[in-house]
Amino acid sequence: MTATTAIAAETRDPSNLFYQSRTRRPIVARAEGIYFWDRDGRRYIDGSSGAMVANIGHGNPRVLAAMRQQMEETTFAYRLHFENEAAETLARRIAQRLPEGLDRVFFVSGGSEAVESCLKLARQHALATGQAGRYKVISRYPSYHGATLGALAVTGYTPMTAPFAPMMQEMPKIPAPTCYLDSDSLDWKARGLRYAEMLRAEIRRQGPETVLAFIMEPVGGASTGALVAPDSYYARIREICDEYGILLILDEVMSGVGRTGRFLAAEHWNLRPDIVALSKGFAAGYAPLGAMVADRRLVEPVLDAGGFIHGHTYAGNPLACAAGLAVLEEIESRDLMGNATRMGGLLKSGLAGLMARCPFIGDVRGLGLLLAFETVTDRQTMQPLPPALNAHSRLVEIAYEKGLIIYSRRTRGGLEGDHFMVCPPMIVDEAEIAEILRLLEESLVIFAAEAGLSTLP
Ligand code: PMP
Repeated sequence: MTATTAIAAETRDPSNLFYQSRTRRPIVARAEGIYFWDRDGRRYIDGSSGAMVANIGHGNPRVLAAMRQQMEETTFAYRLHFENEAAETLARRIAQRLPEGLDRVFFVSGGSEAVESCLKLARQHALATGQAGRYKVISRYPSYHGATLGALAVTGYTPMTAPFAPMMQEMPKIPAPTCYLDSDSLDWKARGLRYAEMLRAEIRRQGPETVLAFIMEPVGGASTGALVAPDSYYARIREICDEYGILLILDEVMSGVGRTGRFLAAEHWNLRPDIVALSKGFAAGYAPLGAMVADRRLVEPVLDAGGFIHGHTYAGNPLACAAGLAVLEEIESRDLMGNATRMGGLLKSGLAGLMARCPFIGDVRGLGLLLAFETVTDRQTMQPLPPALNAHSRLVEIAYEKGLIIYSRRTRGGLEGDHFMVCPPMIVDEAEIAEILRLLEESLVIFAAEAGLSTLP
């Protein structure tokens, strides 16, 4: 044992560090491509890109070189004292990728900060344009928009919100379009419209003059497990927002910057947001970075009225922006969005193959490399597995033991159900997809045997 590992082992337990619980994880030693190695030399496939973050894989030479160069020039310059070229260039490059007019970029350090910024810009736009009565932000249940109190207020996930209810503004929620759980005779298109019309009903119930914005993830993240609505949903949502003068905020913290095969997931439906939140894959784990991108017609009145009352010390950090810029260059020059589409197709059909073998998989869904599957007791009724099986944590543990990292949550629609996100970095190749599927299949077979569930040969 080397001196460093001996010291680390001694000081680890009890540790000064804590996260959500007392569960401990191995200490990571190295990461490259889609792989991690821990200090004991065990290898793990990053089958969920962390929490859908490490979109271009680990140890990317272009990003490391760009960060090294930036560090030698300037690592920090406070935005009220200096601007920096990395932030300026990154903002221009993002604007070039987005629809005309959606070109005002505000940098932050993560997803929650990006969502907070969206909410506060929407409110300040209302104030600047004589609509002070608008303050309610409608969102969906389930949903996840961040851990800070504002982002949590629009989050639809009771286990995380309930303890803070007295500290948060109560915000209205409508059901997320979990059409795959519906058992009525409506076709897919009609189901999409039915969920979209729930927004209109909620706006009327709240009083349209009090409603500021609607926020949603175009492709669901951890809360709904890569939920994709019918095409009809997206167009109708935009129409309803326009009809009532309500801003459409898209949370693309997880779905944005190429993971679904398009720069914004919203492009799959030509859906134009008024404001969009980005993070996670934006600097792909190389640095803490997020952004709010807003339509200039919202930002200009706010600046005219005295300025945007918001900002964080690390905003526009040169090192984070240099990382973000190099990540974008890597995505563009290697056509990683094309790869996400191709490899996502392969992975999705592999997951469908596992579903054919495992009757307890009830749904496979998602776009590009934002993919998930859901476990059920019965495909006809779509009843979830009994909570006592603890599928969401047990299957993840089995896969982890095998050296495959996937991501899971227990939540969906009105019922509690387990879904599993399989979202490797966008650099993944065919052989790696095959390895992920093999390890996942072995894990599912072990889980099924433990849980008394049947699998087909
Ligand atoms: N929005 C979405 C859709 C997310 O998935 C997350 C993170 N899981 C957030 C917001 C919050 O981002 P962060 O954890 O970086 O604050």
